[in-house]
Amino acid sequence: MTETAKALEVLCAERGMRMTDQRRVIARILDASDDHPDVEELYRRASAVDNRISISTVYRTVKLFEDAGIIARHDFRDGRSRYETLPEEHHDHLIDLKSGVVIEFHSPEIEALQEKIAREHGFRLVDHRLELYGIPLKTDEAGS
Ligand SMILES: [Zn+2]
Repeated sequence: MTETAKALEVLCAERGMRMTDQRRVIARILDASDDHPDVEELYRRASAVDNRISISTVYRTVKLFEDAGIIARHDFRDGRSRYETLPEEHHDHLIDLKSGVVIEFHSPEIEALQEKIAREHGFRLVDHRLELYGIPLKTDEAGS
């Protein structure tokens, strides 16, 4: 689930970005998405709202938003970039390699450990990216 502090349209306005109707549609779709859609999926959702939107407009718009630092791009190793609005609370991702389902999680232990490692190397941690890749346990493995 993605809880954003500010709507993308507001963030765009704050950055003095020129907002066309089509950009606005794409911004609203990104705000409304609680998964990690790729460009094709965003295009599918956007063209349901406005059938004049082309896939290249979607490509350009997500690139624009990404370059402005107002959305995050992820590469979950399936050859496609996925996008999400910046969450209010940081989370990491666990990717089910069988189904492609992406699970969001937050682990205070992992966060603390990463800061500790950075500190030990003389750094203040400013960002990190963590993806776990897994296949579902069989039912008899799950409990043990
Ligand atoms: Zn996410």
